[in-house]
Amino acid sequence: DDGLTVTDLVVEYSGARALDGISLRVAPGQRVALMGPNGAGKSTTIRALSRVLDLYRGRAVSGTIRFDGRNVGAMSPQEVVRAGIAHVPEGRKIFSELTVRENLKVAVPRAARGSAGDRIEQALSLFPALRGRLDMQGGWLSGGEQQMLAICRALMTGPRVLMIDELSLGLAPKVVYWIVEQLEVLRRDTHVGVLLVEQNARLALKFSDYAYVLENGRIAYSGDSDALLHDP
Ligand code: ADP
Ligand code: ADP
Repeated sequence: DDGLTVTDLVVEYSGARALDGISLRVAPGQRVALMGPNGAGKSTTIRALSRVLDLYRGRAVSGTIRFDGRNVGAMSPQEVVRAGIAHVPEGRKIFSELTVRENLKVAVPRAARGSAGDRIEQALSLFPALRGRLDMQGGWLSGGEQQMLAICRALMTGPRVLMIDELSLGLAPKVVYWIVEQLEVLRRDTHVGVLLVEQNARLALKFSDYAYVLENGRIAYSGDSDALLHDP
């Protein structure tokens, strides 16, 4: 029962159904893409997994979410993070007035303060571009560097699964490919699972092992990404 498993999840916003019984799985070390057009339910899935649906007046009506055998459905958002599920939100949300170093420091959980330096070092080894920018305010970074920082911030919590929302949005393809290659290094080294929520279908399929296509709150298709990318 290792990894993240969603079973028959139904979510509603004030009575309107947004997810109509979806099931999906992210095994340890697996790269999974969640694709689909606007309004399909991608954000809702992420909100359900992060346990923040109520901030959006949403509600999980039925279904289960389990992570390493534990019931995520009973966790607070903080407990989800502590359990090892981290979220890199859409739009590269960082503190633009804080320096890179401060952005990383404040993301280290209280219980891990002792190993903050190690965690920051480990994250920076993936994105050396940030190393020379440690004392620069986040707002002055390029878009790509902000995305790298947002990922590093998520890594401060020591996740076993990393959910990344619209990684490529507004970034040059070259930068995007560099970032996903570094994510691949991370996965090989730490066996972290990655859930890539992506509008860019080619990117999503190229950098995942398994893909789900959401349509109108249902899984319209799922299968090996290779097959989806290469089949006519
Ligand atoms: P492979 O995909 O190389 O056969 P896996 O152990 O990853 O090896 O998967 C075994 C089978 O389980 C696959 O054929 C696929 O249909 C299914 N599968 C793999 N990953 C997932 C996933 N994330 N969600 C649902 N089914 C999956
Ligand atoms: P996606 O992320 O794939 O674009 P969403 O999860 O945002 O899709 O939306 C799924 C469905 O839920 C859509 O019909 C959308 O209009 C609806 N929805 C999303 N957020 C809310 C909300 N806060 N209140 C009411 N309906 C919402």
